[in-house]
Formats: sequence, C-alpha cells, structure tokens
Amino acid sequence: MADCIFCKIVAGEIPADLVAQTETAVAFRDLNPQAPLHVLVVPRTHVANVAELADREAETVAELVRVARDVVADAGHESYRLVFNTGEEAGQSVFHAHLHVLAGRPQSWPPG
Ligand code: 5GP
Ligand code: ZN
Repeated sequence: MADCIFCKIVAGEIPADLVAQTETAVAFRDLNPQAPLHVLVVPRTHVANVAELADREAETVAELVRVARDVVADAGHESYRLVFNTGEEAGQSVFHAHLHVLAGRPQSWPPG
C-alpha cells in the first residue's frame, strides 16, 4: 500500500527502531510509547486489521503473538499486555494490522 506508514517501515523506506524480524512479521518500538516497553508487531502483508489477517493469513496471527512473547522475554519482563485496536472507535489510527505489546509497569483494567 503506497500510503501506508507501516508498509513503509516494513520495506525499510522510513526509519524505525526495529527489535525483531521474521519471515512474516516485523517488530519495532512505538513512536509514542505508553509503557517502558511498547513495541508494535506487524505483518509484512498489508491488511487493515487483525480480523482480516485471520481470514487471509491465519498463521501470521500466531506469529505476531510469538514475536511479542519473545520481545518481552528478551527485555526481561514477565507480564505484558497485547492489544489489537480494531476500528476508529476502539482507537485504531493506522489501518495496517498491528499488535501493541506493553510491559514494564503495572497496568490497570478496564482500559480507557
Ligand atoms: P493504533 O492507534 O492504530 O492502535 O496504533 C498506532 C500506533 O502507531 C500508535 O501507538 C502510534 O504511536 C504509532 N505510530 C504511528 N506512526 C508511527 C511511526 O511512524 N513510527 C512508529 N514507530 N510508530 C508510529
Ligand atoms: Zn500497510
């Protein structure tokens, strides 16, 4: 997708602080971190949200979770929160599926 910021990061066309890469997923630090560890794990394939990814490339959904787990472990954390904001009302602002990985501080529930 020509105008997709995360496609450009995956392609190396704009810089990002990459923390992990696999055949199907790329992980990089969020520009506006909400926790000491805040990483986004995205599929290399452009899809608008995680439900579309589940339909088109189900195995990659699991890969995003595995990468998230490994990034958290590498950073020395045990507890973490995984979030897929899906749709504008839920807070999605970039329409390339991405898994938020948040760790390193106590996190409250329910979320805002
Ligand atoms: P959403 O609101 O769609 O769930 O999450 C989008 C996330 O992408 C936000 O947390 C935002 O800070 C992050 N973000 C937006 N643009 C960029 C960028 O160019 N680089 C990085 N690393 N993160 C970005
Ligand atoms: Zn994209």
